[in-house]
Amino acid sequence: MPKETIFSKIIRGEIPADIVYQDDLVTAFRDISPQAPTHILIIPNKLIPTINDVTPSDEQALGHLFVVAAKIAKLQGIDQSGYRLIMNCNKDAGQEVFHIHMHLLGGKHLGKLVH
Ligand code: AMP
Repeated sequence: MPKETIFSKIIRGEIPADIVYQDDLVTAFRDISPQAPTHILIIPNKLIPTINDVTPSDEQALGHLFVVAAKIAKLQGIDQSGYRLIMNCNKDAGQEVFHIHMHLLGGKHLGKLVH
């Protein structure tokens, strides 16, 4: 069994978080240390530690992350100005919380990620 992180407690409402969206498959909440005016984490409710642990049975939930990301971007008013979606895997990418999550960043010009 993978080890639970703080994100499992957020999903279950056991610790406070600024939840902006939740349904049966995913939960989205504001990052505690925002790197842009809009910085929201969108996570599957199922605990998957890293992208390396994804299996075909996760396709519905992970595809749903994108549907929810687009919905949240529209609600936040950044769908037309633009935004960036990032998922980090393991140490070279700087993954800190081992419950996969999609960062949704926007609300300012983010600059080029790859030059
Ligand atoms: P990563 O480096 O991709 O693993 O990103 C983990 C993110 O989780 C960081 O941006 C943290 O600021 C964020 N984070 C950690 N704990 C919390 C929390 N309790 N509530 C909201 N965001 C959190």
